[in-house]
Amino acid sequence: MPFEAIIGMEVHAHLQTGSKMFCGCRAVFGAEPNTHCCPVCLGLPGVLPVANKKAIEGVVETALALSCEVQKHSRFARKNYYYPDLPKNYQISQFDEPLSRDGYIEIDVDGATKRIRIRRVHLEEDTGKSLHAPDGTSLQDYNRCGVPLMEIVSEPEMNSPAEARAYLLALQSLLRYIGVSTASPEQGAMRCEPTVNVRDTETGEVTGLVELKNLNSFRAVHDAIAYEIERQKKALAEGAELPARETRRWNVERGMTTTMRHKESSDEYRYFPEPDLLPMALSDEWIEEVRRALPELPRARRERLVEQYGIPEYDAGVLTGTREMADYFEECTRLHADAKAAANWVMVDLMGKLNETGIPITDCKVTPEHLAKMLDMIAAGTISGKIGKQVFEDMFETGKLPDVICQERNLTLISDDEAVRAVVDEVLADSPNIVADYLGGKDRAAAALMGQIMKKTQGKVDPKLANKILREKLAAKRDEATSG
Ligand code: ZN
Ligand code: MN
Repeated sequence: MPFEAIIGMEVHAHLQTGSKMFCGCRAVFGAEPNTHCCPVCLGLPGVLPVANKKAIEGVVETALALSCEVQKHSRFARKNYYYPDLPKNYQISQFDEPLSRDGYIEIDVDGATKRIRIRRVHLEEDTGKSLHAPDGTSLQDYNRCGVPLMEIVSEPEMNSPAEARAYLLALQSLLRYIGVSTASPEQGAMRCEPTVNVRDTETGEVTGLVELKNLNSFRAVHDAIAYEIERQKKALAEGAELPARETRRWNVERGMTTTMRHKESSDEYRYFPEPDLLPMALSDEWIEEVRRALPELPRARRERLVEQYGIPEYDAGVLTGTREMADYFEECTRLHADAKAAANWVMVDLMGKLNETGIPITDCKVTPEHLAKMLDMIAAGTISGKIGKQVFEDMFETGKLPDVICQERNLTLISDDEAVRAVVDEVLADSPNIVADYLGGKDRAAAALMGQIMKKTQGKVDPKLANKILREKLAAKRDEATSG
């Protein structure tokens, strides 16, 4: 059966503001439960909210980075519902007049670029967090109540789990580049709720929309969507009855989704304009000021790296994965001219060690200066690339400069002409049989002699120079043999 999966994404991301959305409490992750609360964020009677300007700025930055239209006029709305993690019994959110609308983000899947439209980015406050103990008790931590939260809603324009994952990675990278959010799913700072349904492309028949919840990693998002597509495809093929709208939970242990609730109509939240807060009126000047202060965005930077340094598109994509990584690479390239060599060392050796140890690049002992200096030494023939690997390991452990390490460990290459000649002479004198083979016409014997030279020097001889001298000496011996 020809079919098409239709995937939309709603992302909630914490804004890094220091304080909460409508009060002065600190917005921190991982503090002792209920230590960052006050009458405002606990919703006690008679309190008044004051909007956090930095949070509004964060949403405007995000909206601009997503090419959205920032709304000069917008307002907060009350979303009314009762839940234990919501002590006010309403959430201050935005409804009919959000801060921004109509943007897009570009994603790459299988070598093709696709544009996913963004319906809106709005500002709201987070709820508290329910903790369910194994004995069935539920506890509430209100530290998260009132933490500034933005909601980013896409159009349902993704068609595969891979596209959904690419969308989340692109969005995460963007939020981190502009520095508005840690966008860390592990800390609940980036939470994703996809909607999935399936269309029979021949008959046009579609399954009911399913909202997926309880996804705390991008891997879970990918797997839950993949499962859901198969489930709905099967139901469609079998003509099974599905609810018009359903919320399902991902069960990571069982690798399947299970039903949470059926919705026949959308939830009735009785939204109304928030009476305690004035509407927001943003000036063109202020919006332009925010736009001007935005850093170079990941895709633009990727394209520039390809253009400016002549590195492959793939490399540029990896290097611009985070702003810090791109900064590291560019600093290294500023100090050492061979950009492709710098790219390789950053992507393979540096990223390999960072992944292996879990050390963030900002705490890495190998600075761009260290790496550039080592690349200079390799380029000058002072050490080989192979020795460079050892030096790199050592730099990563100790933070010492590469020349200091080479000196201490006696790793510098023998690249002095006289010294190399002496080694070659010794090897030739020690290996009369191999030399005889060579003179007898076996060209491959030269490689064996080269092997002896490397062995004798423990790999510390400049291989190009040694090979050149060896060839010269062998040619001379051959001339001697033929003339004699
Ligand atoms: Zn508070
Ligand atoms: Mn929301």
